[in-house]
Amino acid sequence: MSLISKLKGLLGIGAKPANEEPKPAKSGQVGASEQEVEKVAEENAKPRIGYIHLSGCTGDIMSLSENYDILAELLTNMVDIVYGQTLADVWEMPEMDLALVEGSVCLQDEHSLHELMEVREKAAMVCAYGSCSATGCFTRYSRGGQQARPDHESFVPIADLIKVDCAIPGCPPSPEIIAKTVVALINGDMDYLQPMIDLAGMTEGCGCDLQKYVVNQALCIGCGTCAMACQTRAVSMTNGRPEVNGDRCVKCGICYVQCPRSWFPEEQIKKDLGL
Ligand code: SF4
Ligand code: SF4
Repeated sequence: MSLISKLKGLLGIGAKPANEEPKPAKSGQVGASEQEVEKVAEENAKPRIGYIHLSGCTGDIMSLSENYDILAELLTNMVDIVYGQTLADVWEMPEMDLALVEGSVCLQDEHSLHELMEVREKAAMVCAYGSCSATGCFTRYSRGGQQARPDHESFVPIADLIKVDCAIPGCPPSPEIIAKTVVALINGDMDYLQPMIDLAGMTEGCGCDLQKYVVNQALCIGCGTCAMACQTRAVSMTNGRPEVNGDRCVKCGICYVQCPRSWFPEEQIKKDLGL
């Protein structure tokens, strides 16, 4: 049994239903420093990782490759890249411990649908990597009518079709988070991974989440993190509260994910206080 399968079995990791409301996640700390990467490499605990490219822009894999200081270690000594159009010259999809899936899936594209189903069969753990895969992101605005395939009009996050075990939203995710996630997977650091596991059920993202789940719940502290996190500058702070320009929002969901009030580490606080 693979390392990740063992972890999933021991810790009872399962996917959340696709229609589940966004849930608060817990925080954790792990670093992906060069020392840690070396430590993992020394232990030779190498998960087999595949990278599956659906309807994405390649920005997510570009972000992965921007781990300049640790990339060589990451791709050679830390993990086995066993599949991926831009990473490995492999035509048949092999068994994988972890599949990182970039991009949403087009319902009119039979090849993409088959590939996604095959990923679910072959991978012990499927990660919706990037917001297109996790929440649909800007492909939520797709409506077809463009050459060469005007019939390609319906794009959905992958959890609408298959069980997803964890999600790393972001448009794109930061280079650091993917490196940290791989380190956490290898180390079995479930405190770090738990937010990503909880986010597997969050298949919709929008700037309006800030209003609905934070401001309306009297949770907003006016920190401005959401405005800093938004890649399209759709969020501004007015009178200490986020104001969202819907015309600029690409529905990546990252403002809510980054908001420090979208999660509350109750168990950790109780543990720290000895309660
Ligand atoms: S990130 Fe800060 S300002 Fe934005 S909604 Fe959350 S608490 Fe409020
Ligand atoms: S407001 Fe910005 S960060 Fe939030 S979902 Fe829209 S584009 Fe993403």
